[in-house]
Amino acid sequence: MWTLVLNCGSSSVKVALLEPDTGAVAVTGLAERLGTAGAALRLDVSGERRVVDLGGGSYPAAFAALLAGLDELGLRAQVQAIGHRVVHGGEAFSVPATITPEVLDAIRACSALAPLHNPANVAGIEAAQQAFPALPQVAVFDTAFHQTMPEVAYRYAVPEAWYRQHGVRRYGFHGTSHAWVAQEAARMLGRPLTELNLVTAHLGNGCSVCAVQGGRSVDTSMGLTPLEGLVMGTRSGDVDPGLHDFIARQAGLSLDQVTAALNRESGLLGLSGLASDVRELEAAAGRGHAGARLALDVFVYRLAQAVAGMAVALGQVDALVFTGGIGENSVTVRAATLARLGVLGAGVDDDANARAVRGTPGVISAPGRLTTLVVNTDEERMIARETARALEAGA
Ligand code: AMP
Repeated sequence: MWTLVLNCGSSSVKVALLEPDTGAVAVTGLAERLGTAGAALRLDVSGERRVVDLGGGSYPAAFAALLAGLDELGLRAQVQAIGHRVVHGGEAFSVPATITPEVLDAIRACSALAPLHNPANVAGIEAAQQAFPALPQVAVFDTAFHQTMPEVAYRYAVPEAWYRQHGVRRYGFHGTSHAWVAQEAARMLGRPLTELNLVTAHLGNGCSVCAVQGGRSVDTSMGLTPLEGLVMGTRSGDVDPGLHDFIARQAGLSLDQVTAALNRESGLLGLSGLASDVRELEAAAGRGHAGARLALDVFVYRLAQAVAGMAVALGQVDALVFTGGIGENSVTVRAATLARLGVLGAGVDDDANARAVRGTPGVISAPGRLTTLVVNTDEERMIARETARALEAGA
């Protein structure tokens, strides 16, 4: 089923038209800087790029230009369904849902949990409904895959009323990616997913690990928000919960300012004082930049600790899976992480590790060591697959 996959952010829309069974991609695109003078939509079709100026417009202009682009390319009639990436489904959604007025209300109701993302997702869905009124639309949630976590993994040790009245619990994110790479890893290993205990490490701009038991998430490192857990590009990951109060008083910052700094000025960027991009940090560390070295070391140390933590959730680990821009490409981050995971029997095959870059997946562990794979994530394809499944199931 040819599916238009949409990822609507506050000022951008990421687009892909693809067929999930074959993986065929007809067009990809990005509308950026929506609502500003630089608003533009670019569409990439078989290596060719078209750019449309949106005249300062927002979602309606972006979708009108997308429709016109699909018409011009003769692709509009091909689109059979629309799949939306939605960040937070709270406890309301454990599977994708065909969008109805009730579903849209439920997504709105989750906005307090993701104030930056869910309102943008809702606005994108409404604009897409106007642009494509005849097509079925499905919401695929970042949090849904983790709804199988047991209570022992998702509860925080905070007053119970916070959970009951305000939904304060661990939800987890990147679910589409963790679910996809777990399926791919099982396929590559030639074993049924239902029999595997996997730790998946999604390492991109955002980073999280997940314990996947028989294809179901049983724990993950992100929590109430995508700030918990691993060190990320600009996000701190775990810090002392007392830090907000301490730094607000010491530096005279508001809660909003502390939250913004933990999201945008921390992580690899904060530690290194240089960059959030692992490529830049690896190059700088090679030149002797102490901050870059420290940032990478802390990143790897915390990652290895988190992987070991997921082993507790699983009892036994059959394989470790790396994915995301860093996981799929950084030979040194993978090697350093495995070097710290001797406790799990990990050990790298240096040649295999060096080969697994730029879209070349494979097993990178030495014989007899914890099976470790590099798998390419494909969130768009997974969203398209989930969209088809939801429509078939009448969900
Ligand atoms: P993603 O969010 O999955 O697109 O991942 C983006 C991140 O992947 C970038 O910020 C880089 O840190 C990292 N990355 C991409 N390519 C490479 C590479 N060749 N080597 C190391 N890190 C990379």
